[in-house]
Amino acid sequence: MRDHFKILKVDLSAGKAEVIRLEGRNEVAGGSGLAAVVFNRYGYFSRPWNHPEQPLIFAIGPLTGYFPLMSKTVCAFKSPYHDQYTESHAGGRSALSLAFAGIDALVITGRSREPCCLAVGSRNLEIRPAGFLWGLDVIRSGKILRNMFKTSSGHRSILRIGQAGEKQLAMAGINADTYRHFGRLGGGAVMGAKNLKAVVINGDAVLDQPDSRGYADLYKRVFKQVIDTGMMKKYHDLGTPANIMTLNSLQALPWRNLQASSDPGAEGISGERFAKDALLRNIACAGCPVGCIHVGFVREKFMKDNRYMYKQVAYDYEPIFAAGSMLGVSDCFSVLNIMDVMERVGLDVISGGVAIAWATEAFERGLIGPEETIIPLGFGNVDACKKAAFYLGTAANDFYRLLGQGTLKAAERYGGSEFACVLGQEMAGYATGELFFAAQSLGFRHSHLDSGAYSFEQKHAEKDVEKMVDFLMEDEVPRAFLTSMVACLFARGVYRPEVLSECLNVLGYEKLSMNVEQTAHKIRSLRWKTRFACGFDPDSITIPKRFYKVKSWKGPVDPAYLNALRSRYAERLKALADESQTP
Ligand code: SF4
Repeated sequence: MRDHFKILKVDLSAGKAEVIRLEGRNEVAGGSGLAAVVFNRYGYFSRPWNHPEQPLIFAIGPLTGYFPLMSKTVCAFKSPYHDQYTESHAGGRSALSLAFAGIDALVITGRSREPCCLAVGSRNLEIRPAGFLWGLDVIRSGKILRNMFKTSSGHRSILRIGQAGEKQLAMAGINADTYRHFGRLGGGAVMGAKNLKAVVINGDAVLDQPDSRGYADLYKRVFKQVIDTGMMKKYHDLGTPANIMTLNSLQALPWRNLQASSDPGAEGISGERFAKDALLRNIACAGCPVGCIHVGFVREKFMKDNRYMYKQVAYDYEPIFAAGSMLGVSDCFSVLNIMDVMERVGLDVISGGVAIAWATEAFERGLIGPEETIIPLGFGNVDACKKAAFYLGTAANDFYRLLGQGTLKAAERYGGSEFACVLGQEMAGYATGELFFAAQSLGFRHSHLDSGAYSFEQKHAEKDVEKMVDFLMEDEVPRAFLTSMVACLFARGVYRPEVLSECLNVLGYEKLSMNVEQTAHKIRSLRWKTRFACGFDPDSITIPKRFYKVKSWKGPVDPAYLNALRSRYAERLKALADESQTP
């Protein structure tokens, strides 16, 4: 196995590429750690996110292709949302395609003079003009791209943007192989700023066979653990939408822009309801035996000849919250219809839904009117939600263009920041209480997956600031290593540090295998150092008043406790960034 990283760096301005050997495998492992090293080498802390020289990075880990569920790719960039370094993760096929192409990280710099798509493989690289794709939505462009790049379709991954990315909206995601997304914090806008409609990765080579005799035995053991644990059943059967009824009963499911945290309508969008009425099939990321991706169907009638068209939309808990309860929609097919619009234009569904929920409340309060929203908005009005999603993703006017840069940006101009459900970025759908609100606000990716706060809080009602912040700080460390392995976080119960150590050792990464914990700390520090170097100030992040009004299973939110958690977490993060050396 390689003890160095193989980087493919493509400069779209010059139309050139180079293969770079980069040391550091034993220090940062891959994935998140590798992406941070690459950004420190090729990125610019003080230049804006859309400067042509800023890199867009796709990185994988050393176990990809060798062990199950090592199926994610880490996409790293300077975010249009806050102009700071960030990561967004996606499954699909890109991780295995990169592994089969023999690339640890694909780094894209520069800006193409005209819209283009980039195709890379182990032996070839092509930058093709793609003006004819510009303006097309994610589904239509996907069909054309699949026809344009027919080779090695089994190991081919297609990453592309819709109109939201082309318009450089901070809520624009990158679609990965139709049913997965680098959704959060605006990776799609970075592609748009580079005039890059799509990246096609051809996994056209073969992986080196591990020499070690123990590999086959260890693989079998890990595979068995994956399929024998409850994880397989839980994620395969109902999947994450099983959380809808649980969170609703805990008064932790945001409804109508978090004006309520539970509602009898939850049954209509529950995991059980989706599975019974709308589920078409389960699919899996490449290299995963679990298959947690639930694909539902929506039926659309052609008006002229009375025929029906069926569309397929993948669903998870968070998009159901954003396109469902948050908008006051409690019918599973209506939720899929709204999600379908956002998917097509290439919006991050979570941010898009939360933004439209804010706009709906602002409309009802008279802060904005049809001059801004084009159509009247109302909670539960499915047609209005679909139209607003389209207007938002296509930046149909100044209002939607501004909203697409972030709900708080629109609220600064039109008022209503007190009910903007933003925790660093639009909330992820867990109104579990003070710990989650502090955790998402200050977390590295402002993601519910930065730590297990949403889950921990469902079992811990005690108000112990030091204990809770200790949890956040400690829980982030193994996650930083897992995302450097690019493991699916659903497998975190299987891939404990000692198992990861064995996996690395059997593949020949002996030094790294002996230093898992130390390396995990190093990666976590490096990521935060990089974010702070871009201007991150945890004290500047505010938690809107709406979160202080929430009543969850623990009772009403305690403002003093929430503020204490936020301040202490901010102090600990600042100390973390100070204690390690300059990146
Ligand atoms: S469990 Fe789901 S998200 Fe994770 S790798 Fe498997 S299919 Fe992908």
